[in-house]
Amino acid sequence: MTFTRMDAYLQDNLDASLAELSDLCRIPSIAAQNTGLQEGAESVAAMLKKRGFTVEIMPTGGAPVVFGERKGRVDKTMLIYNHYDVQPAEPLELWDSPPFEPTLRDGKLFARGVSDDKAHITSRLHALDALLDAEGELPCNIKFIIEGEEEIGSVNLPPFIKAHAEKFAGDACIWEFGALDHNDVPIQFAGLRGICYVELSVESLSTDVHSGLGGTIFPNAAWRLVWALASIKGPDERIRIPNYYDNVVPPSARDHELFAKLPEIADEYRQRYGVKEFLKGVTGGPELRIQETLLPSCTICGLTSGYQGPGTKTVLPAKASAKVDFRLVPDQTPEDVVAKLRAHLDAEGFSDIHIDYLGGEAPGRTDPDDPFLQMVVQTAEEIYESEMEIHPMIGGSGPNHAFLHYLNVPVATAGLGYPDTRAHAPNENIRLDHYLQHARHITRILKTFAG
Ligand SMILES: [Zn+2]
Repeated sequence: MTFTRMDAYLQDNLDASLAELSDLCRIPSIAAQNTGLQEGAESVAAMLKKRGFTVEIMPTGGAPVVFGERKGRVDKTMLIYNHYDVQPAEPLELWDSPPFEPTLRDGKLFARGVSDDKAHITSRLHALDALLDAEGELPCNIKFIIEGEEEIGSVNLPPFIKAHAEKFAGDACIWEFGALDHNDVPIQFAGLRGICYVELSVESLSTDVHSGLGGTIFPNAAWRLVWALASIKGPDERIRIPNYYDNVVPPSARDHELFAKLPEIADEYRQRYGVKEFLKGVTGGPELRIQETLLPSCTICGLTSGYQGPGTKTVLPAKASAKVDFRLVPDQTPEDVVAKLRAHLDAEGFSDIHIDYLGGEAPGRTDPDDPFLQMVVQTAEEIYESEMEIHPMIGGSGPNHAFLHYLNVPVATAGLGYPDTRAHAPNENIRLDHYLQHARHITRILKTFAG
């Protein structure tokens, strides 16, 4: 079988692929700091050109999108979504080797962005090289859509996908990331929650005031803010915004069935995070997974007001603000959440609380029994010697809604993240065995997809 030749190719040419990955990791393409993005885009564009792709660096309202297309033996089209941007590397002092000087240690490659998402890009290209070496052509058409703003919420991507829906048309999509659990069992995430991120702020005076003067006669911005926040969610964890749950699709019988098959996660969470009890009295099992991924959340991410230094300062703060994120489940939308939040605050007497919408993404799900997703699950078995665990949703967010709804393709995850990969954190790394496994998995996915 040609897979023998491809697997040998992947092993024999691993060093060259890692060299290409290391070059990409040397570029500090940090979306949040708006650095290295053009260089990042040009670098991935060059990698695609080298493989015979027709490539365009397409401008958006922000960082450019790299689009690459190459025809294959069969007229079916696989979309591959990735991103060349990375998170900031700070705090730098916690890195054991410099974040933008890729370093090999103990079978791992360390660098900012190596796992999220640059090794996903180059291991997929490595797989294409093996396919081209064995067969002289790609098994199917492939279109890469590689953006540069994933780490800042893909702010420009959904309208961009919508505007170019014809150009980006395909039959299925491989998502930017994938993961293995702590037993090296690969995971299939069939959906992503959405997000609505807002900053709530209030300014009740033109200046901070002595609390002995203002305490009983002036409005206090900090109190205004905490009262407003308390009106949004109570200790029962229910979000009190009227009609908030109207668009929430409850977990299906199939969701319950899939979650029931997954291993217990409660003890791992207790150990890793020091959590003593989970919210709403849940102790573990499928209920914990459902609550984690299939219910909407409201999280205060940060609060700022008044004096927080040592000792006392008797001051009445003029300003207060909070960063708040809402994770969304189908069929909620960020626009609807902002509108309902505004109406709620006004109705509760908090029209002085200003809402700054900082970004959002709609949630999206692929049917866990979709034939494409099931094929990705099945082709994993030969590589990982274990069936893929199917998770109906992951609690995090990404722009999959745009692919599902504007391009109408099923989206499946496959990749090389693992519990110690430290994405977004110091000492981000990948394991080289996972890198090879992912490339092997991609060869199987593309061959099986082409039929
Ligand atoms: Zn990320």
